[in-house]
Amino acid sequence: MEHNLDKTYTASESLIEQATPSAPSGCPPWGAAKRGGGAEHTRSVAFHTHPLFQPYLEILLRENAKYNLTAITDPEEIRQKHFADSLALLDDAPCPVPQGASLLDVGSGGGFPGVPLKLARPDVALTLLEATGKKAEFLKALCEELGIEAAVMNARAEQAAHDPAQREQYDVVVARAVAALPMLCELCLPFVRPGGVFAAYKGPKEKAVIELETAGGAIALLGGALEHVHGETTGYGGRTRIMIRKISQTPTNYPRNHGIMRKKPL
Ligand code: SAM
Repeated sequence: MEHNLDKTYTASESLIEQATPSAPSGCPPWGAAKRGGGAEHTRSVAFHTHPLFQPYLEILLRENAKYNLTAITDPEEIRQKHFADSLALLDDAPCPVPQGASLLDVGSGGGFPGVPLKLARPDVALTLLEATGKKAEFLKALCEELGIEAAVMNARAEQAAHDPAQREQYDVVVARAVAALPMLCELCLPFVRPGGVFAAYKGPKEKAVIELETAGGAIALLGGALEHVHGETTGYGGRTRIMIRKISQTPTNYPRNHGIMRKKPL
């Protein structure tokens, strides 16, 4: 299977160092309007150091022990591995997040990648889905403290996806570090409206491509089609986003229950 891989940077360079003066044809650069249009040529990923992210950083550091949100506790690593990694989607071309898109983050944990995407793109209608009650409670408090509008659902994806109010309702679904790709597709593709897109955030692209080889059957069965694999190497390792377009409705019997998904992955 051939994949269209792009944005391969040298291993020694971080995402922020890669902020080039010429924007690719991804989403409109974040903050351009806020700063009077002067930032049209800065990539979105560079905004992980913007002061708007400072309160989020402080809340994570303050609440981490209570909610077990992240193993990373160094502020610069949080900026890179959580904020910049989440924002990278907004630099992918063509822009995967249309203006005013409804966006669902499945297994959001400490809010990644959904919350940085919302901070960068306030036009997006964000929903965070999280199975663990305590983490969902954190996400609600986080959004309130950050002053961002978002719906937080405390539910398992395999159950919520059968709710007609949720099924095939989202323009964009994102997930990071939740499950291997075949199971992840079963959890996430049912939420995507036909025509919409699922972005699976993964690690190094070599590994992601191998994972993708195992998921071809699941993607087709669930109504998806592989559109693109965006990958880059950063100072903190390889990062990949597997973009899957929803081209037809997902059969109603998916997702299956958790035990069956684990025992018999698609
Ligand atoms: N996405 C976040 C990130 O990248 O930092 C959190 C990743 S954490 C390793 C996985 C999260 O997914 C956990 O918070 C877990 O509770 C949640 N999760 C796992 N399976 C889920 C499911 N079936 N439905 C909803 N949430 C799920």
